[in-house]
Amino acid sequence: MSTPIIVIGAGICGVSTAIWLQRCGRKVLLIDKGAPGMGASYGNAGLLAHWAVDPVTSPGLWKEAAKYLLHPNGPLFIKWSHVPRLLPWLVRFMANATDADTQRIVQNLDPLLYDTVAQHKALVADTNLARWVADSKFSYAYPTTDAFKADAYSWKIKESVGLVPTLISGREVQEAEPILGSSVQCLAVLEGQGHITDPGQYVAQLCKYFTDHGGKFIQAEVLDITMKNGRVSSVETIDQTFECSHAVITAGIWSKDLMNKLGVSISLETERGYHILFENPSELPRNPMVITSGRFGVTPMEMGLRCAGTVELADHHAGPSKGPIKLLKRQAMAAFPNLQYTGIQEWMGFRPTPPDSTPLIGEIDSTGIYTAFGHQHIGLTAGPKTGRLIAQLIDGQTPNVNMAPYSPERFA
Ligand SMILES: Cc1cc2nc3c(=O)[nH]c(=O)nc-3n(C[C@H](O)[C@H](O)[C@H](O)COP(=O)(O)OP(=O)(O)OC[C@H]3O[C@@H](n4cnc5c(N)ncnc54)[C@H](O)[C@@H]3O)c2cc1C
Repeated sequence: MSTPIIVIGAGICGVSTAIWLQRCGRKVLLIDKGAPGMGASYGNAGLLAHWAVDPVTSPGLWKEAAKYLLHPNGPLFIKWSHVPRLLPWLVRFMANATDADTQRIVQNLDPLLYDTVAQHKALVADTNLARWVADSKFSYAYPTTDAFKADAYSWKIKESVGLVPTLISGREVQEAEPILGSSVQCLAVLEGQGHITDPGQYVAQLCKYFTDHGGKFIQAEVLDITMKNGRVSSVETIDQTFECSHAVITAGIWSKDLMNKLGVSISLETERGYHILFENPSELPRNPMVITSGRFGVTPMEMGLRCAGTVELADHHAGPSKGPIKLLKRQAMAAFPNLQYTGIQEWMGFRPTPPDSTPLIGEIDSTGIYTAFGHQHIGLTAGPKTGRLIAQLIDGQTPNVNMAPYSPERFA
């Protein structure tokens, strides 16, 4: 019996890695402390977001952050008691808010994002899961055409990677998307995008596909990774030791704890985010969109209408706050004034964000330990490709992507 590869964390990055390794003929053990797909991968906006190639840290961030914090409808929240611990990361994060850094980050992110819909379709090829991957258009919903024009920097970035919108304004907005009220007067529409119609179920079913095809899933918390002669030898849970040939850390924000145990210095904090899901909505948008005034994504899903967004800088051990949920409800009702529904579900999740917005994908110093985490706002989008890249690396193939920017050792 060959020694397995252990993948730690069954979010979109973990299940994608496990499936692509399995397709390379490898024996894989996937371990998660909870049920698969219940981390950040559960409650995101479901958007396959090539257009999120321009990072949060674009050059206007300093001014924008101050504006959002002062404005009662600003989608940015900070738990001030967390700031002293956050400071080293925050300083590095804000230092990336220059044009040169933005251009560099876009070059890093685009290879992970540009073919996202095709990567999801490749992941579900030969499965019965294709129904979760929807082709769609994606709209930026602006209050006015001037607000679209004021977003010129962000559109210049998007256009540099081939994303050119079609503009709709005036009455045509409500003809295109009848759910929208008069607070939206301009849509910038991107063709050829996609979304996932229930991200949590999608990841759970991908995990089931993996186990149905011979993979093993165990529910247990990984406490440590053990090395022998400079190479990984086993993974420890509370009551078992699992020998392995390689280990892949795909534990989202919690990857930080495992990296600390390995003594590898990284910089990773969470941008907490929230969703509300309107149950049995009287209307759904025809396609997903972002309401730019509140910076939240709106996605028609199998379970209802999901509105997801806001950024809260706070500890991932602390409980949810009320402010972001109230704001989402207020802004959703302003955007969709005629919406009726029977109930609202609420959720909080943790975007794992490195200060340079670039995921950590690669091997740690020839140890046989690989990382695939740090996907900030784009983990659902880039998860399948990330898993494929890790499988190629472990399988001795040379990926068709320059992996240098994703080095997990770049913070050392
Ligand atoms: C409000 C919101 C909206 C978003 N919208 C989008 C979007 O529209 N499109 C997009 O692309 N991205 C979006 N994102 C980001 C995306 O959800 C994340 O980047 C992505 O889910 C991260 O996936 P992951 O597999 O790295 O981590 P996770 O999904 O968090 O999975 C990590 C897993 O590791 C497990 N784990 C942790 N520690 C251990 C341990 N010690 N032992 C065993 N298991 C462990 C956890 O239980 C968890 O299941 C959004 C995020 C939020 C919060």
